[in-house]
Amino acid sequence: MSKKSLKDGDIVLTGEKLGVVEEFLPDKQSTFTKDGKIFASKTGMISINNKERKIVISTHQDKDRKVVKIGDIVIGVILFLRQYSVGISFYTINNKIHFNSSYFGNIHVSQISDRYVEKINDAFQITDIVRARVIEQDYNEYKLSTASNNLGVIYADCVICGKSLIKIGHNKLKCDRCGNVESRKLSNDYGNVSNNLRF
Ligand SMILES: [Zn+2]
Repeated sequence: MSKKSLKDGDIVLTGEKLGVVEEFLPDKQSTFTKDGKIFASKTGMISINNKERKIVISTHQDKDRKVVKIGDIVIGVILFLRQYSVGISFYTINNKIHFNSSYFGNIHVSQISDRYVEKINDAFQITDIVRARVIEQDYNEYKLSTASNNLGVIYADCVICGKSLIKIGHNKLKCDRCGNVESRKLSNDYGNVSNNLRF
């Protein structure tokens, strides 16, 4: 074995040998196998999942793609409340901001939380900034979910005076200007968002 083995982060060219099927689980989208050997089907950066030993080649374009896919994490603003859902406009996909594109999604009351949510306005208000996961696509409309600790409202203004609200407890916010207390489905990093957004 004179040839050094490939590692995470290495750049490979289309057609380059990556290893053998005994070493890695090949990715269908970015590799192909022939006679038990795995080759790159595109040029990009290697990423190896150490647990599953899955080998994937990803490109800058994949990371910054504008096409929304199931499972993507998006950030958007609440546009309107309905009885059983909210409308949300989003322009950030997997931490990449697409200034010239805007997408439309909705969150059904059953997808807000793992816990039962009775009224939509206990969870969201218009102008809230929300992080959500894409769970389904229906033409140009995306069904989103916030039923996870790291999903939900990441920024909210007081509905009365407009000042940004401070977290005072589980799903509870308070305005330190007018004293108004409101409830939301909060993300666990509300008020301390460390998303590293790409422009
Ligand atoms: Zn206020």
